[in-house]
Amino acid sequence: MVDADQTFVIVGGGLAGAKAAETLRAEGFSGRVILICDERDHPYERPPLSKGYLLGKEERDSVFVHEPAWYARNDVELHLGQTVDRIDRTAKTVRFGDDGTLVRYDKLLLATGAEPRRLDIPGTGLAGVHHLRRLAHAERLKGVLASLGRDNGHLVIAGAGWIGLEVAAAAREYGAEVTVIEPLPTPLHSVLGPELGNVFAELHRGHGVRFHFGVRLTEIVGQDGMVLAVRTDDGEEHPAHAVLAAIGAAPRTGLAEAAGLEIADRAHGGGIAVDERLRTSDPDIHAAGDVASFPLALFDTRLRVEHWANALNGGPAAARAMLGRDLTYDRVPYFFTDQYDLGMEYSGWAPPGSYDEVVIRGDAGKREFIAFWVKEGRVLAGMNVNVWDVTEPIQNLIRSGVRVNTEALADPHVPLDSLAS
Ligand SMILES: Cc1cc2nc3c(=O)[nH]c(=O)nc-3n(C[C@H](O)[C@H](O)[C@H](O)COP(=O)(O)OP(=O)(O)OC[C@H]3O[C@@H](n4cnc5c(N)ncnc54)[C@H](O)[C@@H]3O)c2cc1C
Repeated sequence: MVDADQTFVIVGGGLAGAKAAETLRAEGFSGRVILICDERDHPYERPPLSKGYLLGKEERDSVFVHEPAWYARNDVELHLGQTVDRIDRTAKTVRFGDDGTLVRYDKLLLATGAEPRRLDIPGTGLAGVHHLRRLAHAERLKGVLASLGRDNGHLVIAGAGWIGLEVAAAAREYGAEVTVIEPLPTPLHSVLGPELGNVFAELHRGHGVRFHFGVRLTEIVGQDGMVLAVRTDDGEEHPAHAVLAAIGAAPRTGLAEAAGLEIADRAHGGGIAVDERLRTSDPDIHAAGDVASFPLALFDTRLRVEHWANALNGGPAAARAMLGRDLTYDRVPYFFTDQYDLGMEYSGWAPPGSYDEVVIRGDAGKREFIAFWVKEGRVLAGMNVNVWDVTEPIQNLIRSGVRVNTEALADPHVPLDSLAS
């Protein structure tokens, strides 16, 4: 079949879906491209929702992946506010949830992303309990932070992960009181381990954030629909006028599961299982972005990566694979964060238990350093904090798999490039 007779359907209009549509056209695909998303906004990027946009420093218009006119100009048929509720793999159709319209596909990309996990405790239905995933959530939260700041109000954040900490920083900039409740012993424990998590705890304490580690929320106390306080499992009560549940996200695999596609096991983060070409257990269906679990030979594991760069690169890779191009999706996982005056990038994968030492190059006390997670002399991951233009050499070191001299690794005078060979 020639390209022009083919229909490629993309379900999910986040960064992965929008970049896949862009790539299909950039690669010269001349068939129909249909992009379907349950959100009403045009595809947008989420990182500003907990940073510049939440702080009122970035305009709403700046978050969109493409300007609205781009879709018509590139002949991408956009269906916004439309949920796909069924895939029929035999008929090769997807179904619109509201009116049952069937859309036929030759190739299908699932880029359905992830959704915030909900707290399962009394009081979560109160109006002052928030989540942060969508533009509308950020708009609402922005108003809440501004009014907490004005009234000396108190925000309690459940979860000291990336989103919890970024919102804590924004809330402090608005002047709100902030308490973070985290069951693990340090912030970001499952990514950074105990050694580096404390750098973030100290950063936030220095800006007036209170932490309670090793405890869980048991109840959100309210009156007349308003939040008054939260209770934790150590018997304490903490004042609260609003609560942000930032306890992670779950991949939106429901459609794929119902269609009988293979799902990765939870030990690997769940998600739709794809191969190195981002192809699911059905060769005509691909998956990319937060929802996809892909094999990464470099770490001899399967990974689901909930980060911007994975959507930015995974969407285009899936589009090329849909076009039959030969490729292996094997990028080193990468993400970034900005909190107060700290900017950080992290490359690699080194969960607690996978490394035997952390090597610091620079001054962790001054928050200007690179941390390396090392196992048997090999660098598994590197995090540069307020040090820039080192992502490539760090990723080269990780890819090379060479054993490095850890004294040289710690020495800022030894160029990183010289260690990778
Ligand atoms: C507040 C916030 C801040 C972040 N900050 C950073 C950061 O600083 N650095 C970083 O590296 N990463 C960050 N991330 C993560 C990054 O934004 C995500 O990894 C990225 O958005 C994933 O893109 P995606 O396209 O895979 O999924 P999504 O962006 O989730 O898009 C999926 C879309 O599909 C839609 N959808 C799902 N199911 C259906 C269906 N059945 N029918 C129709 N539509 C459907 C969803 O509603 C959604 O619009 C942040 C995320 C959030 C929420």
